[in-house]
Amino acid sequence: MSRTYGNFIDGEWTDSQSGETFEVTNPAAAGEVVSVHPASSEADVEAALDAAVAAQDEWASTPGPSRGAVLREAGNNLEARKEEATEVLVREEGKTRSEAGGEVQRAIDIFHYYGAKARDVGGTVKSASAPGKDLYTKHEPLGTVALITPWNYPIAIPVWKLAPALAAGNTAVLKPASEAPGVVSIVLECLDHAGLPAGVANVVTGSGSEVGGPLIESEHVDGVSFTGSTAVGTMVAETAAVDLTRVQCEMGGKNPTVVMPSADIEDAAETVGVGAFGTTGQSCTATSRAIVHEDVYDEFVAAVSDYAESLVVGDGLDDPDVGPHVSENELSSTLEYIDIGSAEGATLEAGGGRLSGDDYDDGYFVEPTVFSGVENDARIAQEEIFGPVLAVVEAESFEDALDLANDVDYGLSASIVTQDLSEGKRFVNEVEAGVAKINEKTTGLELHVPFGGYKDSSTNTYREQGDAGLDFFSSVKTIYENY
Ligand code: NAD
Repeated sequence: MSRTYGNFIDGEWTDSQSGETFEVTNPAAAGEVVSVHPASSEADVEAALDAAVAAQDEWASTPGPSRGAVLREAGNNLEARKEEATEVLVREEGKTRSEAGGEVQRAIDIFHYYGAKARDVGGTVKSASAPGKDLYTKHEPLGTVALITPWNYPIAIPVWKLAPALAAGNTAVLKPASEAPGVVSIVLECLDHAGLPAGVANVVTGSGSEVGGPLIESEHVDGVSFTGSTAVGTMVAETAAVDLTRVQCEMGGKNPTVVMPSADIEDAAETVGVGAFGTTGQSCTATSRAIVHEDVYDEFVAAVSDYAESLVVGDGLDDPDVGPHVSENELSSTLEYIDIGSAEGATLEAGGGRLSGDDYDDGYFVEPTVFSGVENDARIAQEEIFGPVLAVVEAESFEDALDLANDVDYGLSASIVTQDLSEGKRFVNEVEAGVAKINEKTTGLELHVPFGGYKDSSTNTYREQGDAGLDFFSSVKTIYENY
């Protein structure tokens, strides 16, 4: 059963001005159209921006606690629709029911978190250098912001941008990824039913070039928050820089887990396996490199290969361990990287192919795949694959492992598995990544601490989430008051 969605502009659900639409199909059964969305263009973007600009002053002057009350109510509304949102997410994006349910819960929690944080938006008072003088800062909203999001966390990422943007008093136009935009419509309905004034949050669906392009180029946009690939993000950052528009881009990763001899190898294999194959490897923080000390290398390769082979792959609605790829493009790209790995001389230890048979032929299913004997300069050890493919690289020592971990253009998330505290502490101090973990997988984030990357994973301008989420969406004014 397919559902038709609209753009949400100035508090109304509308078609694109051209009347054009696009379809989203089920990644587990590609013939099945699950939803139809407006294929918008510049005229729709302009209408959304006009509405957002018109709503700006009133929303900015709405007290923080009142803005927060709307966000909290939106979280309550989403909670009441959790099952529905989970199903829409699975049918559009393909992840498993458990993964999708966890993601919807994350969105609910983010609304509640920033609903409370909206009370704290303010500033700080400092001691002035003279009597009869007050010196303090005041946080003001940027104005109207553009939010551009990827398909792999189609509800969590839009909400982790929208909630702090609105809490800080901004109005917003959001462009979700075309692979899975349906859950964003549910989010906007939840905000609308919570009493969000018309025009404060708007959604325009369509292609990156037709909708994303005009959005980031518009003179009405005072801030751009983008999450997606490094290739597109770099272009977004360059475009925003032309007008000196504040911009943050969070992008790709090539995340390592280092495994040291003191680790329990079965546990380490599971830590790496969950990070590598969960969400079908389609997380920016997915573990795509295991860098393993030579003393435990063979044991680890055997254990992680067994783990990969034990996973049940299937339709996300049946809640298997691993769902399909989101699209034919992503499937083809992963299969191409598997060919590249073999051609580069790595040893295929597990998986390595597209799944076939009655349960699989209509979907984009690929086997969880492990390569051993991977050189760190190989393409499968350097480039983001964004699929369930793990490259296992051998290290001679802790220092060697650290060098290998850092010898990559990306720097998003990194972890080490060890019982040696000194190794753990040195690792988190010296690894070049925005998130560093000891004895934990590279995936999985807490919502109340900053998140973002180093190197080519980020513009490294601002962090997202926690207090940092509000910082991006606020300007700081410094006030000198003499009396
Ligand atoms: P993508 O870069 O292809 O698209 C991201 C968004 O940008 C989409 O909404 C797309 O329509 C839009 N877009 C495309 N071309 C555009 C243009 N010319 N102008 C403006 N907007 C444009 O990325 P994707 O395939 O949707 O997502 C996967 C990527 O996202 C991976 O690289 C992954 O690592 C990254 N990601 C990063 C994080 C993070 O926080 N670091 C989180 C999730 C995903």
